[in-house]
Amino acid sequence: MDHFLYRDGVLCAEDVPLAEIAAKVGTPFYCYSTATLTRHHALFEEALSGLDHMICFAMKSASNQAILKVLANLGAGMDVVSGGEYARARAAGVPGDRIVFSGVGKTEGEMRMALDGGIRQFNVESEPEMAVLSRVASEMGQIAPITIRVNPDVDARTHEKISTGKKEDKFGIPITRAREVYAAASSLPGLKVIGIDVHIGSQLTDLEPFEQAYLKVAELTETLRADGHEISRLDLGGGLGIPYARSNEAPPLPLDYGALIKRTVGHLGCEIEIEPGRLISGNAGIMVARVIYVKSGEDRQFLIIDGAMNDLIRPAMYGAYHDIVPVVEPAPGQPQARYDIVGPVCESGDTFAKSRDMPPVQAGDLVVFRSAGAYGAVMSSEYNTRPLIPEVLVREDQFAVIRRRPTYEEMIARDTVPAWL
Ligand SMILES: *Cc1c(COP(=O)(O)O)cnc(C)c1O
Repeated sequence: MDHFLYRDGVLCAEDVPLAEIAAKVGTPFYCYSTATLTRHHALFEEALSGLDHMICFAMKSASNQAILKVLANLGAGMDVVSGGEYARARAAGVPGDRIVFSGVGKTEGEMRMALDGGIRQFNVESEPEMAVLSRVASEMGQIAPITIRVNPDVDARTHEKISTGKKEDKFGIPITRAREVYAAASSLPGLKVIGIDVHIGSQLTDLEPFEQAYLKVAELTETLRADGHEISRLDLGGGLGIPYARSNEAPPLPLDYGALIKRTVGHLGCEIEIEPGRLISGNAGIMVARVIYVKSGEDRQFLIIDGAMNDLIRPAMYGAYHDIVPVVEPAPGQPQARYDIVGPVCESGDTFAKSRDMPPVQAGDLVVFRSAGAYGAVMSSEYNTRPLIPEVLVREDQFAVIRRRPTYEEMIARDTVPAWL
């Protein structure tokens, strides 16, 4: 459920008509709902109630300061994957002891930054990384708390670009080598092994792969404890999927996911961390664009809109589906039109949907891409020298621009022409 609903014939974000925001900030833009972010966070809190737990928002899905602040105010921690994200989390007021650091390629500089500013744990993904972290922490006179990310070799049955838990994926250490790697970790100075980390992929629409992975983690917990390691924390990653096509998808509910966690690892007495990104931010955000032209091709109609692949790359990158709806509510029983919905960028890949049936729209009309809050704005670029589009946050009847559109002058001023040219 989200808070983007038709009211009196027009699509609103909470209590604000989207056309009102469009008139103020121009199109295209992203718009987020505070109530939806809050609700999704609450669903996970409810799902994990009774367990010692922390929800660490995977901020790579949506990292605007205002969004982080909404979640931080609810007590969320953050899962960061770069020094930049670490800095963003701290700037949003998230204390170091609520930040976990994931990622396969952490640099020395990033490790120093996190050790300096405070960190809940590093999720270490390889032996070379472990060696570097040991040296860096020792040089700084610190002890770095770590979990080691294991790759359980389960098929998450999701898109190949967002599957991370099979043996051919680059993430983590093979679970079959875990005992060896944990033994090595515990002999290194500057590290303190506290737990196990696993994350098998994104947009999982079935609980079965989670079950397989968590059962393997439970077994590994017992094995490592028998080897003498203190395993007191399990980071179970993110990945719960969301319905992109409202009409025919019903991915698992956080409550069922929570029950699965309790059933598979609840008896171990560990503190549980989860790292949801998409399920919190995905349906809490939309992209609003304006139709520039309706163009008749030989055998089809093109809807050319002012949003493009640089603003929302998921369709071009993953073949992702987004519901696209008009801001003015269609009359009941209105016949559908069929469009190829495209942006203005000079690439055929700049296509959001082919042969999409939707209510007819005209040049000048506003259309909304639903479920665009995760991996939307954060993946945008300025390709074709198109300015990064604004982000807007709504709360009840108020809205605020939380990232403004840069001017052309600002974009150009970021380049420097050498004196010798
Ligand atoms: C991307 C990622 C997540 C979040 O995935 P979602 O599908 O957005 O929930 C969590 N943990 C790690 C390590 C990730 O790389």
